[in-house]
Amino acid sequence: MAVKQVRIIGGGLAGCEAALFLAKHEFSVTLYDMKPEKYTEAHRADTLAELVCSNSFRSDSLANAVGLLKAEMRLLGSAVMEAADSTKIPAGSALAVDRAKFSGHLTEKVMNHPNIRFISKEVTEFDPDEPGVFTVLSPGPLVSKGLSVFLQKLTGEEHLNFYDAIAPIISRDSIDESKTFMASRYDKGGADYLNCPMDRKTYLSFYKELIEAETTKLHGFEKDRKLFEGCLPAEEIARRGEDALRFGPLKPVGLRHPETGEEFYAVVQLRKEDREGRYFNLVGFQTHLKQGEQRRVFRMIPGLEAAHFERYGSMHRNTFINSPELLNFDFSMKKYRNLFVAGQLSGVEGYLESAASGLIAAIFILFREKGMETSFFPEKTMLGGLSRHVSMPNAQFQPSNAIFAMVPAPEQRIRGGRRARREYLSTRALDSLKEYLTENPFLQQ
Ligand SMILES: Cc1cc2nc3c(=O)[nH]c(=O)nc-3n(C[C@H](O)[C@H](O)[C@H](O)COP(=O)(O)OP(=O)(O)OC[C@H]3O[C@@H](n4cnc5c(N)ncnc54)[C@H](O)[C@@H]3O)c2cc1C
Repeated sequence: MAVKQVRIIGGGLAGCEAALFLAKHEFSVTLYDMKPEKYTEAHRADTLAELVCSNSFRSDSLANAVGLLKAEMRLLGSAVMEAADSTKIPAGSALAVDRAKFSGHLTEKVMNHPNIRFISKEVTEFDPDEPGVFTVLSPGPLVSKGLSVFLQKLTGEEHLNFYDAIAPIISRDSIDESKTFMASRYDKGGADYLNCPMDRKTYLSFYKELIEAETTKLHGFEKDRKLFEGCLPAEEIARRGEDALRFGPLKPVGLRHPETGEEFYAVVQLRKEDREGRYFNLVGFQTHLKQGEQRRVFRMIPGLEAAHFERYGSMHRNTFINSPELLNFDFSMKKYRNLFVAGQLSGVEGYLESAASGLIAAIFILFREKGMETSFFPEKTMLGGLSRHVSMPNAQFQPSNAIFAMVPAPEQRIRGGRRARREYLSTRALDSLKEYLTENPFLQQ
């Protein structure tokens, strides 16, 4: 007999999304959350799906990757999108919500659903192989201590991370390549890096602005953290002395200009973010700088004067697994077939992306129950992109927001600039999702 029992651990954005989707599809869902008995360092409200910081779900425009993600989730009947749309407040082109009404709305739906049983309990262990039961593990980036100890056993200690270190991503078409050159250090492995060379004067003014730039405010529980030496914020390295960056991420050794043979005082390296090389990340530039300061200071780097930031750098307390090693495309664990990991713990970043991963996991549980094991998500969609992000081999894996680098490049040249290209990618994604829904009509039930 098909499995129709689901246990969901964590009633945040991912957990509520998964619970309501599966309950709608006649699964018997048991949802655990440790609230209101116990709270993480950031949660305060006794309701589920709490927004712990901003009340904005970011842009609602199809020229924006998270806008596309919203449109895809609406097509799939997302409970989180339905709650956001019903509790929205005016915020220009962004989708912002009344946070109390938003989480109240979802809590009420969960509590009143006949197929969902809510249990207030801190889960510290469970049997991932329990016959006849699917598990969705979605305890969020601040998962309780007891459960994270158990998680280390499930994943292996080396595959559980407690902080993220995200470097900015720049779109290539905004880089002035007349000032940069492609090369690998000591010519090893092909000319894979885009290098931004600096002379001494440029380096010193960049260094001075970097150490004085304004940083984001850390949450109380993040202040006393110890930083990994191998993964310090760029501005922190700079503060250790004038030359510290030149001996670290801006090391110029082994990098000569391929045509002139010239050597430089310092070099910022950018690594490809997607197969086609449409996006590059700034190697070693994980940072606490405010976004406006990232634009101001990082645009001092030669070639990046007009850089368009596809994603900003950040660093914060965030428990996440090394997903490419551990997860399949459907967010299930390679080692435990019926255990799905969703939310920020799975290596996505952001409210919407967390909810989206809960939706994908729930959809694939439904496919499993229907015996449609080999189904996959359309690759041109942002949801498909998130699935690839967590499951494709990646030695440098870090959590990520939805970004256009996650979907394949346009098949042909799109005229009209960046906005037109993005709108094209969104229209293409939504068309392919609509086609997929026609082939799988039960998803829209
Ligand atoms: C401080 C902070 C601020 C953030 N600000 C933003 C922001 O402004 N915008 C944005 O897009 N993203 C933000 N994020 C990132 C992320 O999008 C959110 O954390 C998001 O809520 C993650 O969704 P989730 O479903 O994975 O986890 P959560 O929404 O955190 O839900 C997890 C739930 O699991 C419960 N839980 C934890 N451990 C256990 C256990 N052992 N047993 C039972 N229940 C448990 C918790 O009580 C909680 O209700 C922030 C993250 C943090 C940590």
